[in-house]
Amino acid sequence: MRLILLGAPGAGKGTVAKRLTAVDGSVQISTGDILRGAVQAGSELGIEAQGYMKRGDLVPDALILGIMGKRLQEPDCANGFLLDGFPRTIPQAEALRDLLRELGIQLDAAINLVVPREVILDRLTTRRTCSNPKCQEIYNIKSKPPKQEGICDKCGSPVVQREDETEEAIGKRLDTYNEKTAPLAGFYEGEGLLFDVSSTSSDEVVAAILGKVGI
Ligand code: AMP
Repeated sequence: MRLILLGAPGAGKGTVAKRLTAVDGSVQISTGDILRGAVQAGSELGIEAQGYMKRGDLVPDALILGIMGKRLQEPDCANGFLLDGFPRTIPQAEALRDLLRELGIQLDAAINLVVPREVILDRLTTRRTCSNPKCQEIYNIKSKPPKQEGICDKCGSPVVQREDETEEAIGKRLDTYNEKTAPLAGFYEGEGLLFDVSSTSSDEVVAAILGKVGI
């Protein structure tokens, strides 16, 4: 399947994407994961992106488009892809539309995960993430704690609170989402691709998406 996952930070894009990859071998592409990996590696990209991310601001479109222009042409995308956290602005959506047109790739849908603000705030303040850039498994201290406190079940690395998941940065990220990313729902409605899913249960969200794409 070839999907865009839209929704506020904490709406469940990453969790749902991970579950969908297991269905048909589509690859999850998370720009947030790519950027966090670059920050930890201390690469040029990471150094440039770090300040924006820490503040809860968006990284400039040109940087993101540079990454995604290449990533979408890698061989593993041939089985399908789940875009998690990209596009996040109208210029990114327009650039993606042009790129996919050039590559002759048709999207199945833009899935918009609609979750109430109080649920989002609760999820983000209790979320913890594996610090290993190659793993980045997501935990929640209330609903999905690691088996051993502070240690990733999958790779044994420390599980930490993300730098941009302080109360201040979360507030900024949600404001940024409302201002810059929420308008993408209108963009994809216009393209005939928008599919809203409003459930806080990932089982229900996955089932609705699979129903939509006919799997
Ligand atoms: P995420 O893990 O998707 O919440 O992304 C974490 C941070 O990475 C965001 O708050 C932004 O600073 C940056 N980021 C991720 N994806 C994008 C994007 N498509 N455009 C701009 N900035 C992004």
